[in-house]
Amino acid sequence: MWSVEKPNFDPGDTFDTCISKVKNKALKARFAGIRQTVVDGSAELNDRATAEELHLIAQADNVDGQVSKDEMVALYDSRFAGKTGPGRSIYSALQLLPRDGRCPYCDHRDVSTLDHVLPKTLFPALAVTPNNLVGSCKDCNKAKLTAAPTSASDSVLHPYYDDLSSAIWLRARVVEQQVCAVLFRAERQQQWSDALNDRLSDQFKALGLGRLYTQQAAREMSGIRRNLIRVHEASANGAAAVKRELRHQWESRSDDMPNSWQTALYDALHNSDWFCEGGFRLGK
Ligand SMILES: [Zn+2]
Repeated sequence: MWSVEKPNFDPGDTFDTCISKVKNKALKARFAGIRQTVVDGSAELNDRATAEELHLIAQADNVDGQVSKDEMVALYDSRFAGKTGPGRSIYSALQLLPRDGRCPYCDHRDVSTLDHVLPKTLFPALAVTPNNLVGSCKDCNKAKLTAAPTSASDSVLHPYYDDLSSAIWLRARVVEQQVCAVLFRAERQQQWSDALNDRLSDQFKALGLGRLYTQQAAREMSGIRRNLIRVHEASANGAAAVKRELRHQWESRSDDMPNSWQTALYDALHNSDWFCEGGFRLGK
């Protein structure tokens, strides 16, 4: 959902590093035999992701009939993600790529793991491929669908390839009732393909982002309530003063991150006359 700069680790070198300390000679020879397939798999992922065709990458339960899915998963778990594994430094470097250490799927929680954009159990050749591995939080990693994409419309958004920053797509609206609440949605963009809009909408729902942001917005509004009451009471036209204060908050956040939940929140708040006239006083 939020872009991350693509890593430039060589997929062949990364694979070599991971298998470098395999002691079982027969296993090591089988791993060495699939090296080119691993390298080609990374190139195909790059091309397909660029063309929004992730769903055309074939699933498999082994690599070249030489290395099983379980052996690739074990390679990732012990020799790439494992704390003493030879690939651990690459694992750690990939975790550092998302901006401010924030998960690019929710843009809220901290990066604490690596997510396989295409699951390693269905695409074992991509188990230790850097451009298939994105730093994420554990919640998003778990909530993300582990099924393989079946069409261009249900492919997961890839933070290294899908750049949504050309549009303001995260929107919020104030529910102007007894208790002030803010609801969030991913707004469809005319200039985007239907497939891209569907992928964003599906991922927004699958990761529970609406609920997450509504909860965070409630906390944020509690935190600014006292200040808004002060601003309101200090001015002859309190509602206009509150609106101005909220607009300044929106402008500042918008400059920094146009599609953050905070930007969407302050956009909705300063545009709600109901909120500026006193809705901000309501809350738990
Ligand atoms: Zn996340």
